[in-house]
Amino acid sequence: MHVPHQKVATLVYGRRPAIGPVSLSFEYSLTDPLFSVLPLSAALIANLESLNYLWMTPIQARSLPPILEGRDLIAKAKTGSGKTAAFGIGLLTKLNPRFYAPQALILSPTRELSAQTAGEIRRLARFLPNIKVLTLCGGQPIGPQIGSLEHGAHVLVGTPGRLQDHLSRGTLSLEKIQTLVLDEADRMLEMGFFDDMVRIIRQIPARRQTLLFSATYPDRIRQLSAEFQNEPVAVSVDEMTSDDQLEQLFYRIDTMTRQKALIRLMRHYRPESAVIFCNTKQCCGELTEYLQDQGFSAAALHGDLEQKDRDRILVQFANQSSPILVATDVAARGLDIKDLQVVINYELFPRPDVYIHRVGRTGRAGKSGLALSLYEKREQHKLDAITKFQGKPLHCETIDQLPDNPEAAMPPLMATLCISGGRKQKVRPGDILGALTGESAIDAATIGKIDIFDFWSYVAIKQDVAERALQRLKTGRIKGRTFNVKLI
Ligand code: ADP
Ligand code: MG
Repeated sequence: MHVPHQKVATLVYGRRPAIGPVSLSFEYSLTDPLFSVLPLSAALIANLESLNYLWMTPIQARSLPPILEGRDLIAKAKTGSGKTAAFGIGLLTKLNPRFYAPQALILSPTRELSAQTAGEIRRLARFLPNIKVLTLCGGQPIGPQIGSLEHGAHVLVGTPGRLQDHLSRGTLSLEKIQTLVLDEADRMLEMGFFDDMVRIIRQIPARRQTLLFSATYPDRIRQLSAEFQNEPVAVSVDEMTSDDQLEQLFYRIDTMTRQKALIRLMRHYRPESAVIFCNTKQCCGELTEYLQDQGFSAAALHGDLEQKDRDRILVQFANQSSPILVATDVAARGLDIKDLQVVINYELFPRPDVYIHRVGRTGRAGKSGLALSLYEKREQHKLDAITKFQGKPLHCETIDQLPDNPEAAMPPLMATLCISGGRKQKVRPGDILGALTGESAIDAATIGKIDIFDFWSYVAIKQDVAERALQRLKTGRIKGRTFNVKLI
C-alpha cells in the first residue's frame, strides 16, 4: 500500500484572529504496517484477511520480524495487545503438519487464558491441514488429556501445574518442541508457578526458540530470560494509557437508536470540533448524511476518498469550517490530528488498542480532552476489554441520564474559500491576506487559516463576512492576477 508522505503547510499570517482556530497540523506516515509486508505464505495472509487482520498491532509489528527470523524474544506487552497472533504466526510457520508430535508449547497462567489462546491458534491455523491444538490445564480430568496426547498433537497450551503433572507421570514428551512460549509470564510467577516453569523448560531441547511475553519485568522474569533465552531481542510497546487529562465517558443506549443517542450527546456537549469514529465505511457515510440532515456540518473521511477530497476535508476540519469529521480507522490511520477537543466512538471496535488509539488523539500535551463512547448492553465485553487494558474502571452512564438539550446544532464559526491558485502560481499566504485586507476591506481578525497547495489554496473566514470576502477576491487581484474563487 502506498501512503503519501507529505505535510500540508499550515500558516496563519498576521495577527492571530480573536476567534482563531487552534493550530492543527497533519502528518501522513506509515505507522501501522500490513501483515502482507512480512515474509509469510499467501495462504496464511489470506487466512488473516478472513479474520479481518490486515494491519499488525504494535506488538505484532515489533515482534514478528525477529520471531520469523528465529530469534528469541522478550516482549513487554499488556493484555489485549495481540500477543497470541504474534507468537501464533511464528510457531505455525515452523510447524510440520505431517509430524504428529508436540512441536510448540505455550505456557499460560490460567485455564481460561489457555482456552482463549488455543481458540485463537486454531483460527490462525486454518490455512494448514488438520493442525491439532491441545489444552492441558488443571480442573479437568487428566484421563482424556492422556488419550489426546497419545493420538498426537502439534501445539500444546497449558498451565505449568498440569504440564508438570503430565511430565512426572511420563504421559508427555517435550523432545520435539521447537518453539516455547511463556505467555503472561509475570502472572504465572504471581500464581506460584516459578518452580514448575523451570522444571518444564529443562525438559525442552536447548535448540529451540523461546518467546517470553510479560506485562512487567520483575527480577525473576529477568532471571528466567537470562537462564533460558539465547540472546533475546527485547521489544516493548509504549504504554498508551491515557492520562488524567482525558475524561472518558461511556453511554449505554438501549433505550434509543444509536443515531438519536449521538444527537443527544452532540446537543449536550456542543463540541466546537469532534471526530466521530465508525467501524465501517458504510456506517461513516450514513451517519454523515444523518448529521447533515440534523443541521450539523459534518464530513465523512473514509478510505475511498481521492487525495484531493481528503486534503479538502482535512483543511475544512482544521480551519473550523467543517468541524465534525466522521471517520473510519482506516482513513484516520497515520493521520495525526493534534489538540482535538472531543473524540466520539459512535461504534466501539472490538479491540482495546483501537479504542486507545482513537481516544489518544485528544487530551494531549497537557490540554484536557473528552472521549465519549456509545454502547449497547450486548457490547459489554468490549468495555471489559478496555477496562483490563487500561487497568482502571470505566465511567458508565445511560444515555437517558443526559438531559435532552433542544437547542439546534451550532453553525460552524468559519467558512472556507477555495482559490484556483497555489504554490505553482507562487501564491503565498501573505498575498491572499493582502488581497482581503487591502483598503481595510476585511478585518484581519476575521481571517483564519490559510492553506496553500500546488494548484489551489484555501482560506478560512468568519461566516458573516464570507460573502463579502468572496466578492472581494473574485473582483480583486492576487499577485496581479484574478483567480477563480468559490465558497465551499
Ligand atoms: P493478548 O493475548 O495480548 O491479550 P489477543 O491476542 O487475545 O491479546 O488479542 C486481542 C484481540 O485482538 C483478539 O480478539 C484478537 O482476535 C484481536 N486481534 C489480534 N491481532 C489483531 C490484528 N492484527 N487485527 C485485528 N484484530 C486482532
Ligand atoms: Mg493472550
